[in-house]
Amino acid sequence: MTKACELIQDLLPLYADNVCSEESRKEVAQHIAECDSCKEMLRKMDTQLVVQADKDIKVIRSVKKRILTEKIASAAVIAIFIIGIFTGIMFHLINTDCTMDYEKYNLAENVAVKQDENGDVWLVRKNEATLSWFVFPDVMDENGNKMSDKGFEREKAEAMTYTLKQRKIDSFLTTTKFMTVKDVIAKDEYTLLFNVNEKEKINEIYYYDDKTDKDYLLWEREN
Ligand SMILES: [Zn+2]
Repeated sequence: MTKACELIQDLLPLYADNVCSEESRKEVAQHIAECDSCKEMLRKMDTQLVVQADKDIKVIRSVKKRILTEKIASAAVIAIFIIGIFTGIMFHLINTDCTMDYEKYNLAENVAVKQDENGDVWLVRKNEATLSWFVFPDVMDENGNKMSDKGFEREKAEAMTYTLKQRKIDSFLTTTKFMTVKDVIAKDEYTLLFNVNEKEKINEIYYYDDKTDKDYLLWEREN
């Protein structure tokens, strides 16, 4: 290796990075054109640079990919969380009961008890009281015992009290904003309560609004 080679090789890194002066650049280029060993050294440096750049791109790509994966994962977690909450609320609304609002469904007008010629006594709902998809009467005897209570004895009861229950989802949907009476096909809904000949002791049927704790007489045995 000559003195010139030494000098040039000191300059080679700058030359490879393209940061040396114009004067040095010319000198290096001139020398490389004639010197194989310096040319070989420059070739190695370029290759190293290319390899380095290649590695950088790979690293950047993998980092980008990881960031994207993390973003997708956190979006999925948030989505699952929201779906979970929504499902929970829907599940609660669908599976929980509440008392039909006496005012909202105009129950004073829309709920009646009628006895037919066979002695069957029916709970009749009409108009707003039929808005909900799922309505069922909650029964109580005159002592306030519910059907699920131990003290409840339908055979001995002299008066029965009914409270209309609905699914919370119905209560939620059947506001005037979602549905109106006009949307409902005008058809009375009948629920058979009992037969007067079989339940001879029952003399009175009441509607009980458990929100206001008020009783409304719906039916009284004749004679
Ligand atoms: Zn040389």
